[in-house]
Amino acid sequence: MATPLSDHDKRKQISIRGIVGVENVAELKKGFNRHLHFTLVKDRNIATPRDYYFALAHTVRDHLVGRWIRTQQFYYEADPKRVYYLSLEFYMGRTLQNTMINLGLQNASCFLDSMATLGLAAYGYGIRYEYGIFNQKIKDGWQVEEADDWLRHGNPWEKARPEYMLPVHFYGRVEDTKDGSKWVDTQVVLAMPYDTPIPGYMNNTVNTMRLWSARAPNDFNLRDFNVGDYIQAVLDRNLAENISRVLYPNDNFFEGKELRLKQEYFVVAATLQDIIRRFKTTKKGCPGRTSFESFPDKVAIQLNDTHPAMAIPELMRIFVDIEKLDWDTAWDLTRRTFAYTNHTVLPEALERWPVELMETLLPRHLQIIYQINQVHLDRIASLFPKDMDKLRKMSLIEEDGIKRVNMAHLCIVGSHAVNGVAEIHSNIVKTQVKFCFCLPMLFCILTWGKYLLQVIGEDYVKDLSLLQKLNDFVDDAAFIRDVSKVKQDNKVKFAQYLETEYKVQINPSSMFDVHVKRIHEYKRQLLNCLHIIAMYNRMSFTTYILVEAAPGYHMAKMIIKLITSVAEVVNNDPVVGNKLKVIFLENYRVSLAEKVIPATDLSEQISTAGTEASGTGNMKFMLNGALTIGTMDGANVEMAEEAGEENLFIFGMRVEDVEELDKKGYDAMSYYKKIPELKHVMDQITSGFFSPKNPELFKDLTEMLFKYDRFKVFADFEDYMKCQEKVSKLYQNPKEWTKMVIKNIAATGKFSSDRTITEYATEVWGVEPTDLKIPPPSEPREAIEETARALKKM
Ligand SMILES: *Cc1c(COP(=O)(O)O)cnc(C)c1O
Repeated sequence: MATPLSDHDKRKQISIRGIVGVENVAELKKGFNRHLHFTLVKDRNIATPRDYYFALAHTVRDHLVGRWIRTQQFYYEADPKRVYYLSLEFYMGRTLQNTMINLGLQNASCFLDSMATLGLAAYGYGIRYEYGIFNQKIKDGWQVEEADDWLRHGNPWEKARPEYMLPVHFYGRVEDTKDGSKWVDTQVVLAMPYDTPIPGYMNNTVNTMRLWSARAPNDFNLRDFNVGDYIQAVLDRNLAENISRVLYPNDNFFEGKELRLKQEYFVVAATLQDIIRRFKTTKKGCPGRTSFESFPDKVAIQLNDTHPAMAIPELMRIFVDIEKLDWDTAWDLTRRTFAYTNHTVLPEALERWPVELMETLLPRHLQIIYQINQVHLDRIASLFPKDMDKLRKMSLIEEDGIKRVNMAHLCIVGSHAVNGVAEIHSNIVKTQVKFCFCLPMLFCILTWGKYLLQVIGEDYVKDLSLLQKLNDFVDDAAFIRDVSKVKQDNKVKFAQYLETEYKVQINPSSMFDVHVKRIHEYKRQLLNCLHIIAMYNRMSFTTYILVEAAPGYHMAKMIIKLITSVAEVVNNDPVVGNKLKVIFLENYRVSLAEKVIPATDLSEQISTAGTEASGTGNMKFMLNGALTIGTMDGANVEMAEEAGEENLFIFGMRVEDVEELDKKGYDAMSYYKKIPELKHVMDQITSGFFSPKNPELFKDLTEMLFKYDRFKVFADFEDYMKCQEKVSKLYQNPKEWTKMVIKNIAATGKFSSDRTITEYATEVWGVEPTDLKIPPPSEPREAIEETARALKKM
């Protein structure tokens, strides 16, 4: 229960130790000194901590390189089916431990790690953003964003490969020739690959993550304007290179910016060229034109959300326009190649690109999408004759308002498997999308999750399900004492951290009630905030810690302002003293999560039922010895299933209740009138109790809660308050509390990314994880061929 390292981080440490352990330590020191001297050009007198880190990182990388090259040779020999994971959200961490940055990114990065550990021939493909997710600063209670210039000092893990640069085309027009359609007069941007090694856990496998960076071609803007302004043309190169400049934050909100569509097509176009080149290389023994018949047997492509959805029309374009396959064959191969993971059901998050924009940027792809849609709608029309409503709902093109391409529909139609990220989410995707009954596809249930426990020892690193053995210790007094001591130590440590870093004092023996995640209305930080105000009014004491990175949108900023304003009043009230504290910490990130999660007693997972696809924070807390107060939403449902509902504090509306309330019509005012405590809290906010200098400050926010709150905060308020009372009562009994904690930890075995990836591998990608060890560099080259033959026989 110490640091909540993910499997990935933990293994990275262990595999570094593993690799390092077998080599000789003197050798390692020599490497370190050599890099400090020759790579960083420093001596020990002037080296900074960063220099030491870089020297260490380079040394470790050197030790990975042999295995990295070996692994790729092995794949070349054995020619297994390759699995490609496409994501717009891989993001490299900057430290050995801190490899992932937030939800989507974290999932994507830890999945690559699990794929390597399970011995899959896997590749991650994405964009090498110059600027990652912004850093959050709070000034006077308001959020301000700061650029994250993470590459300023270079990145010791990556290897640039300018020799493998590939062209990506944009704009232009389509010419119909007797030889088929031709996309001509395009503008070209180059995609330069940067490779990062992804080591498996103690199996000699080192896979590749390849991120693309945009480069202007040397003749950029010069070819067309040769007599024109050379200086200006060189300056304009920036425009082309902007494509990989910055990551759009994943705010569960679709903005529809042209640059983002460019990014999406950029990664897809470069990656598919790479995949096809690799496919053809392994086919080079075959005479004549490449046969693509075996393409889906050799290539599986997983689309992480709809962001890389343009891969579907792009593969069709390559098959039909370039490789001259007929449409039906191309479509069959395409569908058998792709699988798609849906990450959200919030309508405002779904990607719907305006047809007009796509027509300008990618005219040939729009034609192909129209043709895919035609075949798709013909099929539905034959299944449901005269059902115009169904045709409209299932079309890839939305016609109400400005014409748009629905990317989720494109993914569903173009894939052979679709899944959500938790059981309840898969069910919602199924019913909302209403596709499954007429298209032969697999909706499978996969849950993310990954985390481990240090106290348990190494076997658990490979098999989290062994954690259930902890159930044998539920009544063991000594074990109970140990567990609560570890928690108490973590709380003291975190309190010390807060004191030194933020100059705030909290009482380590009070309950730490923690709500950390990105701010979004659906996650209902507001519900928690109203509860805190009510507890303040009741003079009931706990420590509330809110640590939240936020997207830039208005309502999120208002929520932060309310929380910080409430904190200001509560923390400065002499009557309250040190007994109730509200702490808002800025810039939520993995390194902060590692500190706060192990110190948490109560984990807040209170989204409106039916809105959180899965969540991963919920699992991290559970594994790290916190109890959960939560709704039946996302992975909370499976957590309750695994641990028993009686071992979580479950409250509020279920998905069915929310649907029923929607039918009836949600009337916030009726709760306000009915619940005196809620009325009191809202009246305080409205009257400027928390913003005396500007009583109108929270008008937008209160108006939202009263008039158009899609997430129905008031409807769950009363039940939430009651459930919190149950929490307080149990917390009075430390022994019973800790017993429940142990039962929770013991039930986390299911939430392992290795298990999830094993399910993907067998059910979606058609590959088998193997225990086969790739021969390390110390063994002769023939060993690779031998192992490759062994794999082929399996
Ligand atoms: C786990 C994690 C998240 C995701 O949290 P949820 O509660 O699932 O929304 C976001 N950011 C960081 C830094 C995390 O560690």
